[in-house]
Amino acid sequence: AVEIRGVAKSFGTLQVLSDIDLSFAPGSVTAIIGPSGSGKSTLLRAINHLERVDAGTIAIDGELIGYRRDGDTLYELEEREILKRRTDVGMVFQNFNLFPHLTVLQNITEAPIRVRGLGRAEAEALARDLLARVGLAEKADAYPRQLSGGQQQRVAIARTLALKPKVLLFDEPTSALDPELVGEVLNVIRELAASGITLIIVTHEIGFARDVADRIIFMEQGRVVESGPPARILTAPRHQRTVDFLARVN
Ligand code: ATP
Ligand code: MG
Repeated sequence: AVEIRGVAKSFGTLQVLSDIDLSFAPGSVTAIIGPSGSGKSTLLRAINHLERVDAGTIAIDGELIGYRRDGDTLYELEEREILKRRTDVGMVFQNFNLFPHLTVLQNITEAPIRVRGLGRAEAEALARDLLARVGLAEKADAYPRQLSGGQQQRVAIARTLALKPKVLLFDEPTSALDPELVGEVLNVIRELAASGITLIIVTHEIGFARDVADRIIFMEQGRVVESGPPARILTAPRHQRTVDFLARVN
């Protein structure tokens, strides 16, 4: 489980996250929605150790992100220790971020070999399994520039899965894609949702959130305004700000 307690974060004088308390159960699928600048990406980045928080704690299966606890005191972890724990969390970005000079297969095997110490043969077998799972078995030797955006994003998902994360974070995984390529990526995420891995998805695809998530969180100005099952949040929101946001995006 992911446990977020009392998290706050500012950039200079701008408070980007305030009083965030959230739990994500193992196997749960959560969609985070909210206006631009509401802190959605910052929250994901904090869960993935890419952003330090100013207050509060984030823990994954009881292990604090970035800190170790000794009695009542928190000590910052060393970089090496942070890198090790970061492999519990996978993140897929809007812009795929594949290595352009590596083939699809090499993109996927690089981290398992370097971070997990897998042998090349084992890493390649794993990569081919994952490529088949995202429907790209025949693209193993292609370079990213030879793929469509949707295919690149599916490779990025396979690459992230290769580290066997406990939690997978998606930051607007389809918003850089042409409309006709969105469906293939959403279908891969839909299958992951059924596979039991914990998913947290920042998305503007409200229809997809309704279909795939078991909870929707609406954020505004760095706060969780409300959260609940999609059917309630989308049809009977309790806050006017949620009503206004949904009216704007629908
Ligand atoms: P979007 O829907 O546009 O992606 P978001 O909800 O993901 O928005 P964040 O990217 O988390 O929003 O940003 C929240 C606020 O923090 C914004 O006002 C943004 O400008 C600011 N911000 C984010 N990163 C930094 C940074 N490194 N330095 C300064 N300000 C930042
Ligand atoms: Mg964002």
